[in-house]
Amino acid sequence: LKGYAPICLGLEDFYTRRLYLRIQACPIDCFSRPIASAPDAWFDVVERYSNDNNKTLHRTSNTTKCLNLGSYNYLGFAAADEYCTPRVIESLKKYSPSTCSARIDGGTTNLHTELEELVARFVGKPDAILFGMGYVTNSAIIPALLGNGGLIISDSLNHNSIVNGARGSSASVRVFQHNSPSHLEEVLREQIAEGQPRTHRPWKKIIVIVEGIYSMEGELCKLPEIIAVCKKYKAYTYLDEAHSIGAVGKSGRGVCELLGVDTDDVDIMMGTFTKSFGSCGGYIAASKEIIQYLKHTCAAHLYATSMSPPAVQQVISAIKVILGEDGSSRGAQKLARVRENSNFFRSELQKMGFEVLGDNDSPVMPIMLYNPAKIPAFSRECLRQEVAVVTVAFPATPLLLARARICISSSHSREDLMKGLEVISKVGDLVGIKYFPAEPPKC
Ligand code: PMP
Repeated sequence: LKGYAPICLGLEDFYTRRLYLRIQACPIDCFSRPIASAPDAWFDVVERYSNDNNKTLHRTSNTTKCLNLGSYNYLGFAAADEYCTPRVIESLKKYSPSTCSARIDGGTTNLHTELEELVARFVGKPDAILFGMGYVTNSAIIPALLGNGGLIISDSLNHNSIVNGARGSSASVRVFQHNSPSHLEEVLREQIAEGQPRTHRPWKKIIVIVEGIYSMEGELCKLPEIIAVCKKYKAYTYLDEAHSIGAVGKSGRGVCELLGVDTDDVDIMMGTFTKSFGSCGGYIAASKEIIQYLKHTCAAHLYATSMSPPAVQQVISAIKVILGEDGSSRGAQKLARVRENSNFFRSELQKMGFEVLGDNDSPVMPIMLYNPAKIPAFSRECLRQEVAVVTVAFPATPLLLARARICISSSHSREDLMKGLEVISKVGDLVGIKYFPAEPPKC
């Protein structure tokens, strides 16, 4: 059956734990649809986010208010903030919501240039360029960086925007096993000899692409080891910091700061403003030469409308708070808080017997459900008890590795976290996802 794939549907009656299996032929393009149509926290319409730093959200049906354990709002900037909000409102009055122009056609305000300088300074690179969307940053920049005769070596669990960027370039693509420096070396060794000069090998350019924190795994990149391999084979490194910039590192500067990596060793640093900074858009930070090259060649810079000025102002203000340049210590407190909250929540879940992926300090923590049939049960039962969680499954994960992905914020109080743990524990018992024995309480 061309265009169809066998799909195994597991329907679980989670009260009796009886599992019904059905195999059916499913058109390949509708894999994402059966799950997307399930009514639960995330496929329902959100009426509004509350003003308590996006900690709770209001839904249109059934539950009116629930604890938000799924937003990427790691530092709580995605709501009214005493420093950011008045400045964003001013920028709206001064510049309007949109420039209605591409960067080179009158779409560059002084806010755009200020943010480019600030991002470069914040991440530790000589220069930076902005894009209206994080997704587009990857999918448009990768084809601008290399094409025919180039080689992309991509982590097997890289985000879809990277996969699309790689596919959209005419470069060759190889994949290495997730977060495995030794497999990366094997793949590189198949292509070139160790130490071979860049001018004497079959590829014009080789770029290795990794993420700082993997969005579906909550795992930190083994960046020092990956960089060592790249240096040995003279490959360029491209680091997507969507989930790590602002969220980890002593001063929020991401995985390089956390893992003690010199930013000179990462050639291209990519990030988004949609997580820790509570805004939208994306950036590339690199050498002045690379940024100038991208400004002259990247179609998404030349032909797309520039970032919305109030969104730019939001990021400028959030970075200033993180750096303490607002004259307060709120930034440092937020960073300490998200780390403390994440480590507490992760260790409590593990003590309860859940299988939790990812590393300490990462605010992303997937709880393994495995069977995709447990998704609606887990999600709806949590929601019934006023806790909203994101569940993810195929094609974002392998078919039988479904999970609930918890995202922790500095704006969660200890009381919020305790409520979340209590509900997740009860629902975990109900749907049978505590795969390890619970740790006995310490006397
Ligand atoms: N890169 C990664 C690793 C991501 O997880 C995402 C989205 N969550 C993006 C890029 C795209 O960013 P945005 O949502 O800001 O467009």
